Amino acid sequence: MITNKALEDYSREDLIEILDANVDAIILVDTTLNRYRAVVRRNFFEDFIDETGNYHELIEKLWFHLGDSNEEITDDYKAFVSYYGKYKGKYSRRLRLFSKGSDVPHYIQMNVYPIKDTDKYIYAMDELGDSEYLEENMTDRKLNTMQNTYLFSMFVDLIKDTTSSICVTEVSDEIVNSDITYSQWRSMTVHMISKEEQAHFLGLTDPEFLKQYLKRGQTTSMDCRMKNLEGVYIWVKLIFSRAQTKSEDDFRFVFMVQDINNSYKDLMSALKKYEELAQKDSLTGLLNRRSMETEIRNSIDVYKKGGNQVSLIMLDLDHFKVVNDTYGHVVGDKTLKAFAGILQDSVEGKNATVGRWGGEEFVIDLTGISRDYVYAFSENLRKKVEDYTFEDAGHLTCSIGISHLNSDDSFEAVFNRMDDAMYSSKESGRNRVTEL
Ligand code: GH3
Ligand code: MG
Ligand code: MG
Repeated sequence: MITNKALEDYSREDLIEILDANVDAIILVDTTLNRYRAVVRRNFFEDFIDETGNYHELIEKLWFHLGDSNEEITDDYKAFVSYYGKYKGKYSRRLRLFSKGSDVPHYIQMNVYPIKDTDKYIYAMDELGDSEYLEENMTDRKLNTMQNTYLFSMFVDLIKDTTSSICVTEVSDEIVNSDITYSQWRSMTVHMISKEEQAHFLGLTDPEFLKQYLKRGQTTSMDCRMKNLEGVYIWVKLIFSRAQTKSEDDFRFVFMVQDINNSYKDLMSALKKYEELAQKDSLTGLLNRRSMETEIRNSIDVYKKGGNQVSLIMLDLDHFKVVNDTYGHVVGDKTLKAFAGILQDSVEGKNATVGRWGGEEFVIDLTGISRDYVYAFSENLRKKVEDYTFEDAGHLTCSIGISHLNSDDSFEAVFNRMDDAMYSSKESGRNRVTEL
């Protein structure tokens, strides 16, 4: 027990003794044998680490866990574990650790001292107990979020097949000077890329491709889905940027993985929305004339390549002008929406598309259904409309024309036949089905 003395009275041994009594953990590591031995374990470390064990497992425990909890990261990233925990000189960092089953973080100061001319290190670790450090850590984390949009970065030399300055920001914002070869990294990483994009990844990261196509200072990238630490696929941008070097034969690159998951999802939903807007009729939500024509032309192409037979049905509301004249356009619009709903319901489960051709004219493209059945279907539909009570407008009828595609028909030919059939239904008294 060392009592309070004048500065001059403390011996070197006294200081060592004080340190020894205060440091929470002192661990001796042998990287060649991949082993560690905890010489001192106090407080938090008493339960957190075993007295001896595997060094890689210790590294995993110290920082290969999800940032805000002690949950394990997905196995793919564990491949990087062996590249961490090697130090060329003294090294120091702060860690956030969690005891088993607890969500309460412990803030640890870790200092590493290499033992000269050996593959051994001494780790000295202390828990920082006060709230001051917490605040400091928070600002740290805020700063990190900017860097953290890059999940991974690496410096690559294709000629030497080396990588250096690897940084897996999700695990730690420290840079590791790794000795992993580029080809090793590539074959490890391809498994983290989603199946569909693996071939593209291998193409882009092919050293020969990069050498040939990227001039000095140029950048190339691809978007793909990649597993994050939790093993969930997220959208990332892989970026290769060739260094602006003096020599044509210097093939050094910076490689980065950027998290674009949320922006990509936003972009996709905007695209989907636009796609829908462009294809749909705004009043009824059915396909508009242009996309309906494309659908019909596609069905015809499929049929001509030996696919399903195609029938077209046109429906035109009878005396619809009267609805507008009597009840106004608002009721007219509501009636058209209801009519569109009846048509949409009628094709439920069938290989069919419904579109609004214009005004109060609608077209159905039915494929793979016999001619007799198409007629019965149309007759049934005519009856359904006749029996339906529209809100405000009451009872209405429609006239229907059917045409079936013949092997030598063009789009125009089969379409005009359907149109003619509909007009003969009109001429012969409306509320009927004609087939041509
Ligand atoms: P027919 O039995 O001969 O088909 O008679 P019709 O009155 O249905 O035919 P016509 O072509 O003379 O008139 C169609 C009417 O449909 C004209 C127009 O007022 C109405 N119409 C077309 N598009 C819309 C629309 O988007 N909203 C409303 N409310 N009415 C529409
Ligand atoms: Mg009409
Ligand atoms: Mg009309």
